[in-house]
Amino acid sequence: MLTVNRVYDLLLREYGPQHWWPGRTDFEVAIGAILTQSVSWKNVESAIRTLRGERLLHPRRLHALGARELAPLIRPTGYFNQKAKKLLNFLDWFRGYGYSFAKAAGADTAILREELLAVNGIGPETADSILLYAMGRKVFVVDAYTRRVFTRLGILLGSESYDAIQRMFHARFRGGVPEYNEYHALIVNHGKEVCRKRPLCGRCRLARACPSRVSESDPAASITRTAG
Ligand code: SF4
Repeated sequence: MLTVNRVYDLLLREYGPQHWWPGRTDFEVAIGAILTQSVSWKNVESAIRTLRGERLLHPRRLHALGARELAPLIRPTGYFNQKAKKLLNFLDWFRGYGYSFAKAAGADTAILREELLAVNGIGPETADSILLYAMGRKVFVVDAYTRRVFTRLGILLGSESYDAIQRMFHARFRGGVPEYNEYHALIVNHGKEVCRKRPLCGRCRLARACPSRVSESDPAASITRTAG
């Protein structure tokens, strides 16, 4: 069976560095992590362009808006009324650090994670994306692609909790922050491009060692370890 370290090496060799997370500043990365919930990145880019055009990619200026003013500006991201409230909730938390990730530099990662998870509208994936990509903390981001790919590879059962999957990566993956950053991006790319809901196993670098591989020339073949 493949190990998580071997999967990383193979995916990196296949796709190369992904240069995540797209964003000009750490604050923009954090905003993007909230806005991308349940929507494609293309829509997030559109909202971020609007915010930039309005000179609102600045925490104090953004926080000065009410949800009613903010919501129309992020309309392309869907659920924009809810997301406006989530952004403002996040900014309430961020104000506690003087609107500066640098001022949170001395804070313990576990405490920061607890605080972020206590923000209404921020779940584990968003909290961990902010911690890893905006704050440079060594936390593995788990998403639906992670669950799907690693279940198909036989490394996960598919029924594990978010935290159990994260603990597995923390225990087994040898990388530091740059590799954690890269690995999540590679998994997302692999899940979108190859290990799709209907996987393109014929194009997969992991296929030789994957117990779930299917032959694309065999229309009767179906994948058994799907997990999403
Ligand atoms: S061989 Fe198929 S099922 Fe296995 S990881 Fe690759 S694309 Fe996914």
